[in-house]
Amino acid sequence: MAAIYLDTSASTPVLPEVWEAMKPYALEAGNASSAHHFGRRARRALEDAREQIAELLDAQPEQVLFTSGATEANNLAILGLVNAERGSILTTSVEHPSVLEPVRFLTRYHHVQLPVTRSGSVDVEAIEIPDDVRLVSVMLANHETGALQPVRALLDRVGRRAPFHCDAAAAAGKMPISFRELSVDTLTLSAHKFHGPAGIGALLIREPARLKPLFHGGHQQGGRRPGTEPVDLAVGMARALTWCEEHREENWRHVTQLRNLLLDELNRYAAPVKINSPTNGLPHVLNIAFPGCKADQLMMKLDLAGVACSAGSACSSGSMLPSHVLSAMGLAKIDLLSSLRFSFSSLLDEEDLKQAARIISLSVKELRLSDDTEA
Ligand code: PMP
Repeated sequence: MAAIYLDTSASTPVLPEVWEAMKPYALEAGNASSAHHFGRRARRALEDAREQIAELLDAQPEQVLFTSGATEANNLAILGLVNAERGSILTTSVEHPSVLEPVRFLTRYHHVQLPVTRSGSVDVEAIEIPDDVRLVSVMLANHETGALQPVRALLDRVGRRAPFHCDAAAAAGKMPISFRELSVDTLTLSAHKFHGPAGIGALLIREPARLKPLFHGGHQQGGRRPGTEPVDLAVGMARALTWCEEHREENWRHVTQLRNLLLDELNRYAAPVKINSPTNGLPHVLNIAFPGCKADQLMMKLDLAGVACSAGSACSSGSMLPSHVLSAMGLAKIDLLSSLRFSFSSLLDEEDLKQAARIISLSVKELRLSDDTEA
């Protein structure tokens, strides 16, 4: 039986129609900067992709800067927007490392991490904004729990005192995003999180002239992100986002059903379980503690039995450190070390989830009975 993939927060497969759209540009040469026929064809496809992405996110084409993914887009925004000598940079304690680490790298700034509640969101009423704030970076949805952040309300609190960056890598393609209405200065996307290819993402920028480039040595994309553009990847990214927008509501309903099904089955056959994800977040991510199990052991057992999921964030898996996101939510250590993340896409059906639930329940029972587990 084929393994069941419940790790779409780490990456999603490219859809066949996305692959078909990319193929003509992958199989034939064409540098979008060349003046000949091949170059002009590549340039047209690249700019069409930029326009489609802009339209889907209620932005202007000149506000879309292609990057290699969300890690680069977050670094570019944080290192490229901050322009004062010193002061405070405000993030939340549950941001992705590609936000937290570039802020730490800027050692002359004071890093203020806003706390989150038990459900993983910032309580806008409870926070203090430092007077010397120079940059704010808050994600739209969390990749480990699906929790949403009140980005617009936070922006209203901060005002236009400091540039506001938003990492929407986990949210894009799943919930409606209007760059204009959200009103942030920059917003990060990553195509492989929404059935596009890995190796491409974008940074949306309200006022492109304000961004300092990270790379130097090319005229492409106005010099703000130089380097030959990967036309096939850009075409794939635009096609994938189009598909997500066209199917957004039905995907949301379907994924919600899959999540509820898995929850019901686990509550019945793997009890006790503790749900770390909030009920009002993205349904695509379900983070669960299995008391009596060690997360790393359970994840490996599930992998052998045919269910792929994640212990902590995919980027830090291998290190098996407790997740900084769950720690920030105030989970007890025993729950931190027994939590797994299951993340879904609408490509799965109910049978897949029933089968996954059977495998998970059996593995949890076996681990709870074994001697060496004392999570
Ligand atoms: N931000 C978030 C919220 C993410 O989930 C990820 C991927 N784990 C990233 C940034 C980094 O994305 P990429 O793989 O495109 O560099």
